[in-house]
Amino acid sequence: MIRFIIPAVSRASTIYRLHKIDADLDQRRAQLAETQAKLASNPAVQQAQADLTAVGSELAAARRAAKTLDDENQTVSAKIKESEDRLYSGKIKNPRELKDLQTEIDSLKRKREGLDEQQLSAMDAVEAAEKKEAAAKSELAAVEAARAEEERDLLKDKSALGALIAKLGGEREAALISIPAEDRATYESLRKQKRGSAVSLLVEGTCSACGVAPSSSRIQAARQGGELVHCGNCGRILYAEQGKGYTDTDDREDEMIQRW
Ligand SMILES: [Zn+2]
Repeated sequence: MIRFIIPAVSRASTIYRLHKIDADLDQRRAQLAETQAKLASNPAVQQAQADLTAVGSELAAARRAAKTLDDENQTVSAKIKESEDRLYSGKIKNPRELKDLQTEIDSLKRKREGLDEQQLSAMDAVEAAEKKEAAAKSELAAVEAARAEEERDLLKDKSALGALIAKLGGEREAALISIPAEDRATYESLRKQKRGSAVSLLVEGTCSACGVAPSSSRIQAARQGGELVHCGNCGRILYAEQGKGYTDTDDREDEMIQRW
């Protein structure tokens, strides 16, 4: 990645280059983490599955209720038949007993009428639950199809980000070659302290990170680039863009990365 020899004066510019690569790496790693989190969680499909399970339970309960009523109806009908058989068998002669039997049959028939009505409602409930289950099944299928498409896109992103991170990692290694161990240690320690932002551009005589103007001697030293100059306020390494040619190369690479 190093296309030309870095002059001795560009100590700050090599650090700035590393800073830009690291900023890019941080961003891409965050994007990768976000992509992986999206791949791992699947709320829409989970919700559709939960809905289908709930509707399935509702349908099962409706079917059980209908079955219970049907069983009860059959029992009552059997009792009616048994009582009517006895009533018309001619074996019972006692009028009192006959009357009681008739009363019992009438009562059972009233009960059966009530059960018939309940059974109609129960069948309606089963039918409604079946429709809900069918709707929930097609909803799940639709959500799963959408998720499959989303996953394809997420996997594509993941793979592209992985490649980009590997490329930036290579660029980082290359950038490190021209950075003295001492500068690197300073940079790494600042990066930890300043949440990833160890270097600040000097823009119109002001530290762009904290907005405070360093002293003119600091500005001058930063412009010379021969040593690492820190912002007197925020402590970041100040970088003055004196090496325009270098920056242009940088910008072209930024464009390439942005296009991704
Ligand atoms: Zn500052």
